[in-house]
Amino acid sequence: QQVGNLVNQVNNRPKEQTMQSSNPCALRIVNLDGTRKITTDLQVLEQLFQQPQIKDKQVCVVSITGTFRQGKSFLLNFLLRYLDLKYKKKISVDKNWLSVGDSKLTGFEWRSGKERHTVGILIWSEIFLAELPSGEEIAIILLDTQGTFDNKTTKQHCAAVFAISTLISSVQIYNLKNQISQSDLEHMECFSGYGQLIAGQNSSEAPFQNVCFLIRDWQCPYENPYGVRGGRNYLEEFLDAPGQPHELRKQNANIRSLFKKINCFLLPHPGRKVATEISFRGELQDVSSEFVESVEELAPFLLSPENLVPKTVNGQRIKVGDLVHFVQSYCEHFMT
Ligand code: GDP
Ligand code: MG
Repeated sequence: QQVGNLVNQVNNRPKEQTMQSSNPCALRIVNLDGTRKITTDLQVLEQLFQQPQIKDKQVCVVSITGTFRQGKSFLLNFLLRYLDLKYKKKISVDKNWLSVGDSKLTGFEWRSGKERHTVGILIWSEIFLAELPSGEEIAIILLDTQGTFDNKTTKQHCAAVFAISTLISSVQIYNLKNQISQSDLEHMECFSGYGQLIAGQNSSEAPFQNVCFLIRDWQCPYENPYGVRGGRNYLEEFLDAPGQPHELRKQNANIRSLFKKINCFLLPHPGRKVATEISFRGELQDVSSEFVESVEELAPFLLSPENLVPKTVNGQRIKVGDLVHFVQSYCEHFMT
């Protein structure tokens, strides 16, 4: 109920933070305003990460980043549904788990047309507790990012959000539409460079943990089927395409060296209603069955106990409570 109190205290904040109830909601932890300043909300950070029942647990932080209006927030709500069923309601989530529970998807606000120029990092206020196969407990945190890659005038900001969210997370989902392009990797390399500087690179270890390229509206399932197997194939083919010019080969090798683990997952189109209809409000029956099936594979691929990735800093597992310091110190590097 601590989080509930926190939510009640929050006033004069952007829309996602003004819910006057103890319902879980998205809270902004990093904000970049028009004056190019990066601010963190220490009060929110402390009250979320210093909760006595979780502050000493290890933590898995899953973040999503990528261009505006490509279904990032929408997708996170499927992950939230999985977390709620599996770790809170403790319902068995085997094959068709999306048929369990409410027929309407809720959580992070999506289709956020008005929020176009907001730049920042949001956290879901509810932190889930899971058990690793070793029996140790681990907290799970979901992050949403806003405003990456939208607008050339805020390139610095885009870089900051990308770098900070990648540094905070143990799994960064890089959300892309249709395919991977060389320019997506170029962005990534460039933005990751900032993070690399901050991470302080003391060893041969990769500066970042896991990245998962998530390809939305994948159109060639006959070449590479939806899901993680097709995704891995596609990624390999892309990064190691024969006859690449030296420059690209170098760039692709660099991307590999930035992350401990690189994955890729291919998602089908969610259906006409989701993609184009203003009246769509998250009703699962309007989501294509192919998309539902793929999400039923994606969520456990990221969030089942055996797949959870504990957050490490310099090779050491950190605790939830340590995030207060890390988020602040990563942001400080961008405050000029
Ligand atoms: P975000 O800005 O990346 O967080 O995107 P949103 O989650 O707010 O979604 C933007 C719009 O894309 C909404 O109208 C969604 O219904 C729609 N959408 C969500 N997922 C997909 C998808 O996989 N493919 C397509 N084509 N549209 C999607
Ligand atoms: Mg969004």
